[in-house]
Amino acid sequence: MAKEKTLEDAFYETLKDVYYAEKASVKAQKKAAKAAQSPELQAAFKTHGEESQNQVERLAQVFELIGKTPRAKTCEATVGLMNEMDEDLEDFAGTEASDDVLIGCAQALEHYEIARYGLLKTWATKLGYDEAAALLDATLQEEKKTDELLTQIANASMPKGKSGAKAKAA
Ligand code: FE
Ligand code: FE
Ligand code: FE
Repeated sequence: MAKEKTLEDAFYETLKDVYYAEKASVKAQKKAAKAAQSPELQAAFKTHGEESQNQVERLAQVFELIGKTPRAKTCEATVGLMNEMDEDLEDFAGTEASDDVLIGCAQALEHYEIARYGLLKTWATKLGYDEAAALLDATLQEEKKTDELLTQIANASMPKGKSGAKAKAA
């Protein structure tokens, strides 16, 4: 009979999932920085792209801490979110809504990361991997900060079109 799976196994499997998601995120930030219209949004994606590269390194450290070789396993959720981003970028390219739509896609990726890093941090702590938990928390805080920044940017920009709040107020 197969050996019963443990939380240790779940931790390793989820780590591989997030390793895939984080590598995809590096690419997504680059793509989003190119697609963004406002300089502020471009800068946010550029900064988070650099952070994401560092987050990939942190995950490699976590693999090392549990005595495993870093390995990625296709994350279907990330594949889906990336496909949605591609579709939205195509549909809304050059429109007044393009930055808002782009922020929405980027936040979906951040929220997935927040869910996963939060989970991994909890599990690392339960399993006694304190050093790994600290690394995962450092990344979790960066993901949360990025999510909040994107919300701020979305709130600060006024819609330019007829349907916009400004037009209504006038
Ligand atoms: Fe990330
Ligand atoms: Fe996944
Ligand atoms: Fe992120």
